[in-house]
Amino acid sequence: MNAPVNPKKLIKGATGDWEIVIGMEIHAQVTSQAKLFSGAATAFGGDPNSHVSLVDAAMPGMLPVINEECVRQAIRTGLGLKAEINLKSTFDRKNYFYPDLPQGYQISQYKSPIVGEGEVIVDVPETGETITVRIERLHLEQDAGKSIHDLHPTLSFVDLNRSGVALMEIVSKPDLRSADEARAYVTKLRTILRYLGTCDGDMDKGNLRADVNVSVRRPGDEFGTRCEIKNVNSIRFIGQAIEVEARRQIAILEDGGKIDQETRLFDPNKGETRSMRSKEEAHDYRYFPDPDLLPLEFDQAYVDDLAKGLPELPDQKKARFMADYGLSPYDASVLVAERSSADYFEEVAKGRDGKAAANWIINELFGRLNKEGKDITESPVSAAQLGGIIDLIGEQVISGKIAKDLFEIVFTEGGDPRDIVEKRGMKQVTDAGAIEKAIDEVIAANPDKVEQAKAKPTLLGWFVGQVMKQTGGKANPQAVNEILKSKLGIE
Ligand code: ADP
Ligand code: MG
Repeated sequence: MNAPVNPKKLIKGATGDWEIVIGMEIHAQVTSQAKLFSGAATAFGGDPNSHVSLVDAAMPGMLPVINEECVRQAIRTGLGLKAEINLKSTFDRKNYFYPDLPQGYQISQYKSPIVGEGEVIVDVPETGETITVRIERLHLEQDAGKSIHDLHPTLSFVDLNRSGVALMEIVSKPDLRSADEARAYVTKLRTILRYLGTCDGDMDKGNLRADVNVSVRRPGDEFGTRCEIKNVNSIRFIGQAIEVEARRQIAILEDGGKIDQETRLFDPNKGETRSMRSKEEAHDYRYFPDPDLLPLEFDQAYVDDLAKGLPELPDQKKARFMADYGLSPYDASVLVAERSSADYFEEVAKGRDGKAAANWIINELFGRLNKEGKDITESPVSAAQLGGIIDLIGEQVISGKIAKDLFEIVFTEGGDPRDIVEKRGMKQVTDAGAIEKAIDEVIAANPDKVEQAKAKPTLLGWFVGQVMKQTGGKANPQAVNEILKSKLGIE
């Protein structure tokens, strides 16, 4: 654990440097039609308590029946995390009282989870580093319902629509060392889940939530005491929560105090974490095997079959984009971050220059979509249209500069790029006669500059600019360069 510490990741305290240590427990809602142990719908929204079976409401005598689809999804996720799949696992009761937990316990997995150790490879954009985050386990458990305290002055309400929905709890080892790394990890994990189709990753709806464990230590020391920040529901807040919690702990330690292990909440409005309860220990929950459920067993052939059906995952896709299209690691990871942008890219790049396609998508299209608050699935410029624009540049029908104007027209008005160029006279002028005429005009208007250019060939650039202006950006820049050089007598 005493690997050399990158000084850039350290936090400067009043008494020296500190290192942050982070481990995360992510709750990811399984994509399935029905709940983990009942046939009630998992659909979001709906009237309160409209998706609740007798099992979810914990009526006496009701028995849970495992939903195979949730098991399948958990195994597929485990495979996507390159993790060990346990052919036998068990469900346990985690006992606690809460009004939105009518059973009085949550069915979870404790000692033997369905998925064991795995890993996630994470590119951290801020540092340019690639880190490996080890996964400790993934287990299946039920979600709780929701208590609503703000609808009535003296009463609280309970909505059990979520009660019993399947969650995957994905626990990382304490391998993260900064807020940047933590954010990149959750982003990557979410990408993998979305590729697999096992969780939609929608944090606004609470379908992906993070419990963030944070401690600090002097570089090279043993791990410090951690606090767990519960239920952080956006990637930005995860970063903020880590920063403020680390600073809080450092201030206490530098003051000679000690950290109490506790569960805390992040308040994004105040930018602080505050204590919720002291940390509960496993024995507080009186875990025991759920007598209503048999151990979960399946054979290796079942797992192998699911492995065969996995889609190409982001790491593989990134490697393929680099190998097949010559993309940089950065461009490739930007494009594979969403399956939809990777697909769009491949459609544009097919039979064209991959690097040009990547540049246009990352630099022009993403920027423009961003401005409009749209994502790539809503892009007004289709892959075929963007491909058309790139073809016109390749064929030297238009210059790179005109291509940007054309892109804007296609973005706002639609239409076939080739037709637009034709109709609006945007074609590049390659006709030497026309270019020569423009050059002669510029030369005639600037006799002093012509004199200077003989001694100072760098003025050529200025002349090229003038000629481009004269031709509305349509002159072929290469032709302009050559003709200008000979007319000005520059080598
Ligand atoms: P518990 O069983 O009490 O929940 P775990 O050992 O399962 O504790 O750890 C829960 C999470 O806390 C894991 O994600 C783990 O990586 C993280 N963690 C453990 N120790 C530390 C530490 N000292 N600092 C930060 N995170 C930690
Ligand atoms: Mg835990």
